[in-house]
Amino acid sequence: DVQTLNVCAVTVVALPGARVLPMAAGRDDGLFEHDGQITKREVRALTLSALAPRRGELLWDIGAGSGSVAIEWMLADPSLKAIAIEADGERVARIGRNAQAFGVPDLRVVEGTAPGALVDLPQPHAVFIGGGGSEPGLVEAAIAALPAGGRLVANAVTTEMEAVLLARHADLGGGLTRIDIARATEIGSMTGWRPAMPITQWVWTK
Ligand code: SAH
Repeated sequence: DVQTLNVCAVTVVALPGARVLPMAAGRDDGLFEHDGQITKREVRALTLSALAPRRGELLWDIGAGSGSVAIEWMLADPSLKAIAIEADGERVARIGRNAQAFGVPDLRVVEGTAPGALVDLPQPHAVFIGGGGSEPGLVEAAIAALPAGGRLVANAVTTEMEAVLLARHADLGGGLTRIDIARATEIGSMTGWRPAMPITQWVWTK
C-alpha cells in the first residue's frame, strides 16, 4: 500500500565526513590501516578481478600484509571465506583490526612463514601471492594446494619474484600482465606523473 511504499522509499544520505564503504573492489588505501606495505588500490582492483571470486569459495592470501586483498575478497559476498597468512606479528595484529573495521571478523589469520605455514590449512579455491613468492617452494606449494579449476594470482614487485613467475609461466602457461600505474602529483605549481613500481602479475588456472 501507499504507506508501506513511502516507508521503503528512504534516501540514504551520508553524513558529512562519514566513512562510507564503496561496493567495488579497489577501495581507497586510506580506508585500511597499513604501514606502506599494501597492494595499491588500482592494482588491488585488478587482482580481485583476476581472483574472480565465486559464491562460497575460500581464498588463501599469502603474505597478506594489511589483509586488504583477503578483506576485499570477503566483502564481495557474505558466502566467501578467506585465510590470511602473514609472517610478521605486527602485521598479523593489523590484519585482525582491519577485518573488524571492515565488518569481516571471520577472516582467519595465520601467523607464520609460507610454505611451512600452509600445511594443514583447508583446501583453497583461489590463492593470491602478494609477498614472499621467491621463497623456495612457495609457488609450488600454492600450485599443489589448488584443486583442478582453482586459480592462482601472483604479483611480483622484485626481479627475483618476477623471475620465479616468468619461469612458472614458461612451464605452465596462464596469463602475464604488467601493471604500470602513474598518479598525477604536484611538481611545484605544476603537475606531473609519478610512476609506481611496475607489477608483474601471473594468473593461472590449474
Ligand atoms: N597484499 C598486501 C601487501 C603484501 S606485502 C596488502 O595489500 O596489504 C608482502 C607481505 O608478505 C609482507 O607483509 C611480508 O611480511 C609478507 N611475507 C613475505 N614473505 C612471506 C612468507 N614466506 N610467508 C608469509 N608472509 C610473508
